[in-house]
Formats: sequence, C-alpha cells, structure tokens
Amino acid sequence: MHLITKLFTLTVLSASLLGAQTVPAPQAGSADSRIEEVLSTISPDSIRSFDNTLAGFGTRHTTSDTTSNTRGIGAARRWIYSKFASFARNNRDFAVHEDRFVLSNVPLITRPTVLVNVYGILRGKEGVNGRYIVISGHYDSRCTDIMNDTSDAPGADDDGSGSSLAIEAARAFTAAHFQPDANIIFICFAGEEEGLYGSEHFAMEARKKNMNIIAELNNDIVGAIRGGNGVVESNMVRVFSQGYKEIKIGNREVNPEVIGYENDSPSRELARYIRAAGEKFLPTFHTTLIFRQDRFLRGGDHASFNKYGYAGVRFTEPNEDYHHQHQNVRVADEMVNGKEVKVQYGDLPRYVDSAYVARVCRMNSLTAALLSISPPAPTDDIMLVDKLEYGSRFRWDNPQRGKDIAGWKIYYRKSAQPEWAGYVFVNSSTDPVVNYDLTTMSKDDYIFGIAAVGTNGAESIPEAPLPGR
Ligand SMILES: [Zn+2]
Repeated sequence: MHLITKLFTLTVLSASLLGAQTVPAPQAGSADSRIEEVLSTISPDSIRSFDNTLAGFGTRHTTSDTTSNTRGIGAARRWIYSKFASFARNNRDFAVHEDRFVLSNVPLITRPTVLVNVYGILRGKEGVNGRYIVISGHYDSRCTDIMNDTSDAPGADDDGSGSSLAIEAARAFTAAHFQPDANIIFICFAGEEEGLYGSEHFAMEARKKNMNIIAELNNDIVGAIRGGNGVVESNMVRVFSQGYKEIKIGNREVNPEVIGYENDSPSRELARYIRAAGEKFLPTFHTTLIFRQDRFLRGGDHASFNKYGYAGVRFTEPNEDYHHQHQNVRVADEMVNGKEVKVQYGDLPRYVDSAYVARVCRMNSLTAALLSISPPAPTDDIMLVDKLEYGSRFRWDNPQRGKDIAGWKIYYRKSAQPEWAGYVFVNSSTDPVVNYDLTTMSKDDYIFGIAAVGTNGAESIPEAPLPGR
C-alpha cells in the first residue's frame, strides 16, 4: 500500500461518537511514490563510504590542519562541499553553501579559528521566504583531550554517522528529484564538541533573518547497534525533545504549568510526529521518545535551535559505547569480569553499522519529506476561554481559505498519556476563521493539538492551542 493511502486508512478513532464530521475518502496523490523513491535510494553502501572517508581524514578537530588535502578539518569540509556540489550538478533545485565565520575568545578555542558549516539546500516551491526543514550532523571530532588537535580522532560514530546521514539524505532527495513545497537543508555543523559553536552561529543568523524553520532533525551518534552495556539493538532510535520552558502569548509570558503544557512544546510535538510517521510508514523500525532535551547533562546542536525558538530534536542510537566516544585510539589491557582482556578504544568505522544509519536516515527523510509537502500548521490556533464551560472550543485562522487543505485534525490525549490517542476530523472550509466546538471533551482532562491535513494526505505538526478569546 502506498504511504499516503496508509495515512488515511489507519487509526481514525471514533470520530462519529465525538460528533465530528466524516473523514474524507483517501486521496492518494503522486507524493507517496516520490517519498518511497527517496527512501529506497538511501543506501548503506553509500553511507559506509562517506563514513570511511570522514574517518580517513585522521582528525577533524576544530583547530586541526586546514591546508592538507588528506588530513584535518580543512580536508574534511572541502570533501563535504564537493559531495554537495556533485549533487547540485544533477539537480537544478539544489545548491551548496558555506556558513563561514571566525571564532575567537571563546572557551576551549585557543586562537582565532575559522569555522565552516557546510550545507546544501533543496529549494521548495515556497521559495526563500517559505518554510525550512533541517537535517543535521556535526563533522568535527575529538579524542580524549579536547584540546588535542593532532592525534587521531576518527569520529566515525560521533559524528561521522550523523554527517554521513545528512549527506546521504541530500543524495537521495536530489537523485529522486523530489520537489518539496518547503525548503530542505542538509547540513554538517562545525565546532560542536567545544560548545555547539557552528549550530549556534547558524541558528542565530536564521533567527536574525526570521527564517521559518519548522523542524531541526539533529543526528549525533546514530551509528552503532551494540552498546558498551552489551545490548544489541538495531531496530530502534532514540528521539530526544525539549519540554516547554516558557510560552509567549502576544507579548505576555505564560508559565506552561498554568495550562498544563509542560509536555507540549513544539519540539515535543515534532518528536510525536516523527514517531507517528515512522510507526505508519517504517513499521519495522521504531523510535523511542525521550522527554528531555538531551542525554543527562549532555547536549547537541538541536539545543542551539531550541535556544532561538525553533523546534528541534536529537536522534541517537539506543545504547552508546563510551569506549568509542571521545577516546584516543588505543588498545588497553583491562580486567573484565576477573579476566585480563584487550580493550579497543577509539571511534573507529568498524563499530558503525551502515545499515542501521540508513534506517535512521530513512526516518529523517520520511519526516522531512512529509513535512515538506504538508500544508502549513494552523495559525493563531486558540483554545477559547471567554467563559467557563465543560467542553473545549477551538478557533484558528485559515489564511489559505482551505486551498489544498482536506481539513484539520484535532488530536487528543489524556494529560498523562505520552502520545496522541486519536483525533477528530474537521472538514476543510473557505471561511477565513474556523471554529470548532468539542462539547464532549474537557480541556481540563485532555490535551489537544491541531494539525492541517493537505489534499495529498500529508499533515502539519500538531500545535497545542494557546488560550485566547
Ligand atoms: Zn557528537
């Protein structure tokens, strides 16, 4: 069954019981086969070759050599640029860019250093003022001593895996000549290890330009299926998302706790969207949602986007192996379970499973593709609170007057449920403002999220409606 057809045939929950209007007949467009083509183009062999090449630069430390063509961060970024440039030669909608800046007087960087984020943009029909979706990894690496910029630091998993994923996704989208509505950015960030410097610069500049980035999909350590704890898991990836810290309603700041939205930040709705899309369209590969910004006391490039008000999540393998992260490449004699054994340290390509990276790449690409052809999320969606009442009344703007929109889904779940339990479907309308009265469900007991559904079946990320009158 095609992707978009599945979208409509699965889990339409008791809409009639809830007084909702009928769900429209499935309208499978050509979009589904185009997404399938992107997903089937993603290749473990290609990811393997990218990751080997990145590891082959010896070290990609932020202050390592920039003149050699075979070793150091300079060689790595020129190679990444050349890959994106080769995709651009075969696809007129794709362009390669550098985000280049000088970093000085910051922690862990001892001298003024040029940092370069390397990226490609697949231009969408919406143009430069339209929406953007970002797929990222970071291409810098480190060994045990974060200041050591000469020793080997192959960084095959951290984060050759995420960088290879971003490059491979770009290859697949451009080779399939996928034509999105929103723009898709494929980016390899610099300077992550010393303090998220590359992504910080990119997200800050994006905010200055008020770029409409609707999702940042950060991939950092997405390569290994065997953890240092001995657990092998190849059919799952963790997705970390930040909760709400503050909500702005107009110029007013509202504590998320006042409306019970601690679990309904844009990043967390994005995480739920990824999981729901994956369960429908990539049912043999799963996401585990982790409701925290990142692993305990650690961070990644999506945090830079969160900082500037963008939804962003982190993908990471299920079980990490700390022998392979931030370690000099060496073999040590160690006592394990009472026996002396040789333990290999270092972030080597042999521990990266390219078939696994390809699965994570498909999850990213599926999400980006669906979002890129979805209608924009409802604007100014409001939970009406002009009087106390037992049900829930919603209102949202409909600037497109229903053009290309099949309708809207009001997703719901009990407050203690982690994921949406169902939805009510609201038919498309040409009214400039849409009102919907859900008399049977109390906003005290349920959380809601409103998504726009395109005539092609693709949905926007649901948004939790803010209180208004
Ligand atoms: Zn990393």
